[in-house]
Amino acid sequence: MIEFKQVGKYFNGKPAIEHLDLNIAKGEFTVLIGTSGSGKSTTLKMINRLIEHDQGKILFAGEEIHNFKPEELRRRMGYAIQSIGLFPHWTVEKNIATVPQLLKWPRAKIRDRVTELLELLHLDAEQFRHRFPHQLSGGQQQRVGVARALAANPDVLLMDEPFGALDPVTRASMQAEIVRIHRLSGRTLVLVTHDIDEALTLADRIILLDNGKVVQQGTPQQMLLQP
Ligand code: ADP
Ligand code: ADP
Repeated sequence: MIEFKQVGKYFNGKPAIEHLDLNIAKGEFTVLIGTSGSGKSTTLKMINRLIEHDQGKILFAGEEIHNFKPEELRRRMGYAIQSIGLFPHWTVEKNIATVPQLLKWPRAKIRDRVTELLELLHLDAEQFRHRFPHQLSGGQQQRVGVARALAANPDVLLMDEPFGALDPVTRASMQAEIVRIHRLSGRTLVLVTHDIDEALTLADRIILLDNGKVVQQGTPQQMLLQP
């Protein structure tokens, strides 16, 4: 589904990623793990072209990502981040509807989708759709961030430390939601974290980055057995 071939990325002449080969299968839950600065976020952002790579090739569904219009990439890849990035002056409904509106979905279809997503993430739709971000707890905002990423039924969900700012209880329940959504939908999920327990809990496959290179990869079982 997503393939990196000898990908390189430089910032001010310094390599952030070098000779990176990756293969993320359709339907797989992949977790990118590594210390701060190891290149996890850069790798994730190159997948949806928030960052353009400098070397090598990145393929999505067998085609180079440059062959996709940015709008199509945004529809097919949902993106959720720790800092959430909800628009403060927009309601929950309008925030979730960002991509569907961009794609000019009919109003009724958008309304139904928002209801469905809020319920999927255990937020009462009628209670929450008209609220503004500041009227939500951190955990609720994070749920809305994930709902927004899922809104246009993306093939791929990219998540960068989506549970980072949460207390342990909310975090565990959000992790469980994501696992459930993955099982239900069979979507391809790529999640960035620096938390090894989170990786072991969630992943089908873990990719350990260090200094912009893959140093180890495998199933959680294999990662535990390797030295
Ligand atoms: P991680 O997500 O693993 O913490 P990043 O992908 O954010 O790592 O960063 C990898 C390396 O690239 C780091 O050395 C970081 O400082 C550098 N880097 C990332 N983004 C930029 C940028 N926009 N400008 C300059 N350097 C950057
Ligand atoms: P994260 O790794 O969680 O994305 P960071 O704090 O590493 O958070 O990066 C936040 C933003 O700053 C990102 O957009 C990243 O690309 C950029 N960035 C990271 N490192 C640098 C750097 N050394 N110089 C400039 N921008 C950077």
